[in-house]
Amino acid sequence: MLKQESNPQLLVVGSVAYDSIKTPFGEIGRALGGSASYFSLAAGYFTQPALVAVVGEDFLPQDLAMLKKKNIDLSGLAVMPGKTFAWGGEYGFDMNSRTTLFTELNVFENFSPALNGAHKNAEFLFLGNIHPALQIQVLKQVKNPKLVGLDTMNFWIESAKDELAQAMQMADVIIINDSEARELTKQHNPLKAARQILNLMQGGEKNLPATLVIKRGEYGLLMFQEKKIFHLPGYPLEDVADPTGAGDTFAGGFFGYLAKTKDLSWENLKLACAAGSTLASFCCEDLGTAKLMNISEADIDQRIFELKHLVNF
Ligand code: AMP
Repeated sequence: MLKQESNPQLLVVGSVAYDSIKTPFGEIGRALGGSASYFSLAAGYFTQPALVAVVGEDFLPQDLAMLKKKNIDLSGLAVMPGKTFAWGGEYGFDMNSRTTLFTELNVFENFSPALNGAHKNAEFLFLGNIHPALQIQVLKQVKNPKLVGLDTMNFWIESAKDELAQAMQMADVIIINDSEARELTKQHNPLKAARQILNLMQGGEKNLPATLVIKRGEYGLLMFQEKKIFHLPGYPLEDVADPTGAGDTFAGGFFGYLAKTKDLSWENLKLACAAGSTLASFCCEDLGTAKLMNISEADIDQRIFELKHLVNF
């Protein structure tokens, strides 16, 4: 553990990774990535997120310093013998289709997250893309979370479906992309897929009606509650350098905004979508996490303003 304990409002568990990314326009090797990194970098614009993850002995001190500098509580980041989780992906010419080149779990194979005292009191919890058994392990340790969010990906839908279904039933907000929603439900239509996922989420006591966000890449998102639906287009970008992590960045902006405003009304969830989409659009403008390191609050406000006017009629 790397730092003193603090009382976080927003806790995220997920991967911290070294990513190797190829796009038709550029490439980058062993760059800082992972679901929890993107999430925390985005959330850090609204609150101080606390990150629960593991890295190997090869994790570079400059990457640690970078995360620390960006307002992230690293007291839950464990360093274990072995290598950091590594992932490689390659994009097709349209930048929407991606092939996973490799997934090396490395230190994640033996990771067993144990939360410190302060982290057990987190109000907002996000279970980022990671093995669903680890998501459940973290969730069970948080005493009384106000809001629990969950993300996943095809890798876990294929390899840990039962544990994933269990984790999904415990979540208040699920954020997944459209191909994952299809794969999970075997439904092509997003409305039918959404109903099926919302039905799966209904069990248990919740602070919020089951809420689902289906991300649709550059085409934006659909947000659902039982009888409600909201659509937000993606912020139109002329130059997309790398969409990796856009989904995690969206979730970080969404949850960071909610942790800051503490308002779980449907209207405020829409604003959280705008905050998340805006951060995600910045994320796509450079390779890896580079752009997320360098945005100002004024940049974010300006883009949320533009997004609002884009859909106002
Ligand atoms: P996204 O583009 O939203 O799918 O997120 C990509 C990020 O997810 C990359 O930074 C990867 O390191 C991370 N990632 C890819 N596969 C996995 C996996 N199986 N478990 C956890 N994180 C992963």
